[in-house]
Amino acid sequence: MSVVRGTAVVKRWGETTALAGATFRIGAGVTGLLGANGAGKTTLLGMILGLHRPDGGSLEVLGLDPSIAGPKVRERIGYAPEHDALPPDVKAHDLVRHLAEIHGLPNREATARASDALWQVGLGEERFRPIGTMSTGQRQRVKLAAALAHDPVLLLLDEPTNGLDPVQRESMLDLIRRIGHEFGISVVLSSHLLEEVERVCDGVVILTDGRVVTEGSLDELRTGDGGLVVVVDGDAGPLAFRLRAAGLCVEQDGSRLVIDAAEDVAADAVRDAAAHLDVGLRRVQRKTATLEDVFLATQGADRE
Ligand code: ATP
Repeated sequence: MSVVRGTAVVKRWGETTALAGATFRIGAGVTGLLGANGAGKTTLLGMILGLHRPDGGSLEVLGLDPSIAGPKVRERIGYAPEHDALPPDVKAHDLVRHLAEIHGLPNREATARASDALWQVGLGEERFRPIGTMSTGQRQRVKLAAALAHDPVLLLLDEPTNGLDPVQRESMLDLIRRIGHEFGISVVLSSHLLEEVERVCDGVVILTDGRVVTEGSLDELRTGDGGLVVVVDGDAGPLAFRLRAAGLCVEQDGSRLVIDAAEDVAADAVRDAAAHLDVGLRRVQRKTATLEDVFLATQGADRE
């Protein structure tokens, strides 16, 4: 089932066309909204929230049209914006409770949910600290807790690792993955970092100049055009030679071979040749493109 579905969505800001007919589908799990700066990611998140009306096309979010049923949609969405304006003197718990109350939770429930959400994001011990005394990583987590406090079914995170050091980034990505998989909340993660999307997302929507150039599950997208990658003990030269003699197209890089052939044909040939040469196989895996390959291919296709 689609959590968000966009059909030819257009949004113009004056002379600038931020979205130029974006068509896509976002399902359960964690979906990366990937694109360079200015590609239209934040604009799209605002439209999913029902904050901006499309100039063309349509959006469906949790079965509703956000430009008509904005408040109803926002009740069910948690949003952590890219830039924060968190009040420095307010304790994290008070802020998250207050935002939960704004979402309509009664005081007692908002208090309980604020504590739960802050524990969920790893700030349980720190929850009564003023936000101004917290690190950037902790403040990003406060935003996440605030977005989670009213029990949303969909979470929109705009560049949630901005300003984090590598260790904080790693743990934020881990947390996002857990939210998407263990808490059962659908997550849309806007990012301009391929590697980040590749690590945590199940699916991706790639935006370029306001248009969706690729979308789908990462597994589908990364599946190359067949073939195997083989890593052997020692030099792979003799194995490459034998496979080429058998008519296969093989590239060698030290102990690693990339074989372009139907997977089962390549696997049989590798097994036979390795047994014949008594070469140890350390790794045999399907050839897959990286998300970077996919991304670069779409950029090329888009420019042609
Ligand atoms: P970034 O990662 O830099 O935030 P983005 O992919 O989120 O980029 P948007 O912020 O959606 O992209 O911006 C898309 C285009 O629309 C940009 O050219 C931007 O300058 C323009 N834009 C966005 N919001 C507004 C606005 N409120 N008024 C005018 N132009 C805007």
